[in-house]
Amino acid sequence: MLQVYTGTGKGKTTASLGAAVRAFGYGYKTIMFSFLKDDSEYGEARAAKQLDFIDVRQVGRDAFVNFHNPDPIDLEMCRNGWEMAKEAILNKEAGLIILDEMNIVLLTKMLPLEEVVAFLKEHKHDLEIITTGRGAPEELIKIADLVTDMQEVKHYFHKGVSSRNGFDH
Ligand code: ATP
Ligand code: MG
Repeated sequence: MLQVYTGTGKGKTTASLGAAVRAFGYGYKTIMFSFLKDDSEYGEARAAKQLDFIDVRQVGRDAFVNFHNPDPIDLEMCRNGWEMAKEAILNKEAGLIILDEMNIVLLTKMLPLEEVVAFLKEHKHDLEIITTGRGAPEELIKIADLVTDMQEVKHYFHKGVSSRNGFDH
């Protein structure tokens, strides 16, 4: 099935990692494609090196992406990442495929919405797919089997606590 974790509150990526741990309890492996990211210091990337059941593939670059005017290199990296993700889905390389930040990639049109939605609609019956990120487009929500909207009630960011190792990245 297709699950979508969206909204402005914290917990989308970490919920998908929790799903990966639970799935492993039943023998499923996970591949997480991290769009818009390439930082080997992320906790999940560090952890995956020590875990056989989860493979984290960072398919972005370690730079700020200007969503209003994305750099051609960022568009190319999204395209390459998506081609790799499609391969993994078609070949059923894992029981769970996480497309981290795909919602925002689609919202900002870094990949064509129609193409991605059509592919996910066709293949979501073959394995479990989770997309994360703020602002999931309506077309994606329409074809999803489960959608959770994370709502911020409080976040320590607003009292000046910046991103913490092991908890925020
Ligand atoms: P996490 O990876 O912790 O599950 P997320 O995937 O829901 O968070 P993203 O939009 O991917 O959230 O942003 C990731 C980073 O931004 C994390 O460092 C997270 O703590 C921070 N963040 C998430 N939500 C908020 C918020 N409402 N205000 C400020 N910072 C936030
Ligand atoms: Mg996230």
